[in-house]
Amino acid sequence: MIHRVIIIGSGPAGLTAAIYCARANLQPLVFEGSQPGGQLTITTDVENYPGFPDGVMGPQLMDLFRDQATRFGADCRFKEVTKVDLSERPFKVWVGDELFESESLIICTGASARLLGLESESRLMGHGVSACATCDGFFFKDKHVVVVGGGDSAMEEALFLTKFASKVSVVHRREELRASKIMQDRAMKNSKVEFVWNAVVEDISGSEDGGVSGVTLKDTNTGEAREVDCEGVFLAIGHTPNTSLFTGQLETDEKGYLATANGSTNTSVEGVFASGDVQDHVYRQAVTAAGTGCMAAIDAERFLESQH
Ligand code: NAP
Repeated sequence: MIHRVIIIGSGPAGLTAAIYCARANLQPLVFEGSQPGGQLTITTDVENYPGFPDGVMGPQLMDLFRDQATRFGADCRFKEVTKVDLSERPFKVWVGDELFESESLIICTGASARLLGLESESRLMGHGVSACATCDGFFFKDKHVVVVGGGDSAMEEALFLTKFASKVSVVHRREELRASKIMQDRAMKNSKVEFVWNAVVEDISGSEDGGVSGVTLKDTNTGEAREVDCEGVFLAIGHTPNTSLFTGQLETDEKGYLATANGSTNTSVEGVFASGDVQDHVYRQAVTAAGTGCMAAIDAERFLESQH
């Protein structure tokens, strides 16, 4: 069987594309990937998604997206695509040994948390080091934790962690935050949050059995290093796009995000469309991802029409 459209990814972009494709009677097949629902499933309150004046929990929002897509006939499968071949149509998509073919493809594989690249960071990941406060914050009751980063994510993580931790130190490499004013204000007003300016984490101490015991901070102005005791380290330093499946097959921009033609979701291969965080390093919001997911579905529909 040759599908009309396969959607890879199930965040706001993928599931919105699924809603639109399903309503256009394209019977989309959606491979949800390793994190069904995408990044919103590891956040708590979403306060800026239109239509929810009282906010909505991230996982609940994504369940609603999925319900809406399946209601119109989208086939959502909790499976991860392992390989694609975009060299000819129908495009080939593998899930392990299983091969699927499709006339068009919508890529919404999103982005993943960026890491510092320290040996101690990967060794202690899951043992006191985390990239998700929502997932792991609970384990740090009455403890001192460090949050690395100066963007909205860092503020959000820091604020969330104050519900558990005794103190949250936000370590930022400059003396000015990147975060939006409202998030900065909230973090600064919280008495449990302290800011460590002009500092980077050079090393994390601890053991897999005993967890994290501290960090070595380096002052970015003086180069001076100092030890700070803490029991947890949360990384909130941005994201990298999940494009490894498409290496050598699709063009990317200078930052590694999938390149799309201006004003559309067309990638460098005709019939392959990209939407959401995998192609957007500027806005990266649930609502913009949903918007480009809608665009991708319309682009795919028009492409399929032009072929028949
Ligand atoms: P971001 O805005 O790119 O911020 C990343 C932060 O990490 C920056 O402060 C950056 O420092 C720092 N950083 C990057 N690499 C680093 C490294 N190697 N070592 C130390 N620090 C490093 O990423 P984000 O905070 O994840 O936010 C991404 C997008 O999602 C933004 O558009 C944001 O508005 C949105 N978002 C919104 C909300 C909300 O509205 N509630 C919540 C979360 C995210 P520099 O500033 O020096 O570059």
